[in-house]
Amino acid sequence: MKTSKLAVFHANGLPFTYETVPVPALREGEILIRNEYVTLCRSDLNTFSGKRMEKTPTILGHEIVGVIDDLAPGAPTRDCRGTELRRGDRVTWAIYASNPDSWMARNGIPQKGPDLFKYGHEQINPASTLHGGLAEYCVLRRHRPVTGRRVLRLRTFRLGI
Ligand SMILES: [Zn+2]
Repeated sequence: MKTSKLAVFHANGLPFTYETVPVPALREGEILIRNEYVTLCRSDLNTFSGKRMEKTPTILGHEIVGVIDDLAPGAPTRDCRGTELRRGDRVTWAIYASNPDSWMARNGIPQKGPDLFKYGHEQINPASTLHGGLAEYCVLRRHRPVTGRRVLRLRTFRLGI
């Protein structure tokens, strides 16, 4: 069974815990990503410092670049620019997943949809464990915009750390 290491954030002032969890079987339309890079931005720092309250435990980091490890049946075959998505492609994705048929999405603001799911901000629970950057793997849900290799080829670089 494939497993993933992750750094779990519990609350301001508490140490991260480092855990290993099973990588769940993908559901229809999902993509498994092996995370390569993640930034920790101001909203992560606000959560870390207690200025922003998130349901915890959680996995910080929502600006992520990774490689497609697996595509479930029904997963998108093209990214948001029409480039084919294949196993091994380096991709990034939007912070959110939400229903494209919601009123908010149809009016141009899917990131405010009623069923909004935000990577790097969700509570770890038995049904959803891998949804942040400070982990080896991330499961991309249905209805999240992905940008593929054609865009990232010129814009990513390794920090060497
Ligand atoms: Zn951010």
